[in-house]
Amino acid sequence: MSSTSGVAIVWFRQDLRLADNPALYQALQTYDRIIPLYIHAPHEAAPWEPGAASNWWLHHSLGSLQQSLKSFNVDLVIKSGNSLEVLQEIIQALDVDAVYWNRLYEPSLIERDSNIKKQLKSADIDCRSFNANVLNEPHTILNKSGKPFKVFTAYWKTARNLLSQISTPLAAPQQINSLDYAGESISSLKLLPTIAWDKGFYDHWDVGEKAAQIKLDTLAEPLAMYTINRDFPAVSGTSKLSAHLHFGEVSPRQVFAVCSALLLDPTVDSKQVEKFLSEIGWREFAYYQLYHFPQSSLHALDSRYEHAWPASEQNQMLLEAWQKGQTGIPLVDAGMRELWHTGWMHNRVRMITASILTKNMGINWLQGARWFWDTLVDADLAANTMGWQWTAGCGVDAAPYFRIFSPQRQAERFDADAKYIRQWVPEFDPSVSDDYISPVIDLSDSRKAALNRWDTIKQAEKVSCID
Ligand code: FAD
Repeated sequence: MSSTSGVAIVWFRQDLRLADNPALYQALQTYDRIIPLYIHAPHEAAPWEPGAASNWWLHHSLGSLQQSLKSFNVDLVIKSGNSLEVLQEIIQALDVDAVYWNRLYEPSLIERDSNIKKQLKSADIDCRSFNANVLNEPHTILNKSGKPFKVFTAYWKTARNLLSQISTPLAAPQQINSLDYAGESISSLKLLPTIAWDKGFYDHWDVGEKAAQIKLDTLAEPLAMYTINRDFPAVSGTSKLSAHLHFGEVSPRQVFAVCSALLLDPTVDSKQVEKFLSEIGWREFAYYQLYHFPQSSLHALDSRYEHAWPASEQNQMLLEAWQKGQTGIPLVDAGMRELWHTGWMHNRVRMITASILTKNMGINWLQGARWFWDTLVDADLAANTMGWQWTAGCGVDAAPYFRIFSPQRQAERFDADAKYIRQWVPEFDPSVSDDYISPVIDLSDSRKAALNRWDTIKQAEKVSCID
């Protein structure tokens, strides 16, 4: 029941859902009519405008939200342009009283949103933002010295304890009264590719809140053997929730509620659930890092590594082989082809392909991060930045630089029967040793070269961005 008359814009961003959506919920509590709005403003995320695979997901996710709202006889208003200008245009046209949204943590979007809040408040608009995308907001957790944690285990110990205070998810609305405003069509945003490289995506993904909810309802399945199965890329042993979480089709609070229920079930092995929750914790830690170290999406957090990857012509050739899944290293090629065909890659293989690029090939982590950014459906600035800096060895609580994954040993341990490799690289026959294309780099020599680079980096003066 609304307590105030008036009109509120609910500005949807990376929270494309109706359930557990605090901005929507509070706007419906407070105002009697709402305008659900999506503003397409990719330039405002510069230099990390969404990539092609993200745009594919966004197209379908907006379609799903539009359908959900239609069931209430409500239209999702879609507009492209400058966010502040679009908001001001609608505020003026419909005499709007309030603008509500859920907070984001990408540095350029924090700056944009702060500015918009200032402008709207000075125009006497009731402007409110909410936490909907993380369990603990980054500014709420600091170490004893009042500084950000740099080590995940210490961070998670504190953050995990705070989860006892997490409230239950908000219900989806029963009724929505809206005000019409002429918007644009989803197709006019031109989010889908003109060349059909996205064919495989349709076989792998159901997009939208309902599809995310189905994964949530069946979360007990991947969690039953999560600690073991999560490492084997041929096994469907993880939740595949990452893109749903990125676009906010499901909230981390909803995920936590399912985990909490499983932890109360005596037939469930709590170790499995806690391990999964700690992965949600890594997602939180990624947002935490991006918030406290906003430069990290472009610069090595350990400054000694800033110039550790000199550009060369050889690098360009290796980069292209890596992108195309034509390195001659079967597990790496399988991962890169899985990524191209499905917009997703298994976490272990993400680490292996990133290690090959940054260590053996000596290519700057940002080149890899940009490729993943364009090709992952779950491309997320916080998680991608952390994943790349971690693997390259230049981030917070990173894998040491001298930890160089051996793709052969990894394949022996985690894909012993080459089931995963054969799925994506059918021309590879493990029984014939020299059947596959020759590797573009010698794994042993390139490993030694990487370790030599490490010796030079070690001697450089450490002026860490995070000290
Ligand atoms: P599950 O194992 O089911 O985990 C559940 C959820 O926890 C995930 O959906 C995700 O939200 C979160 N999560 C799990 N592992 C991590 C992690 N290491 N870091 C942060 N969050 C995690 N994840 C992204 O969501 N977007 C990215 O752009 C991204 N880029 C990465 C780049 C590199 C180089 C590496 C090594 C990892 C990257 N990851 C990224 C993290 C991880 O690979 C994916 O989150 C995971 O593979 C998604 O599959 P899932 O949903 O089945 O994971």
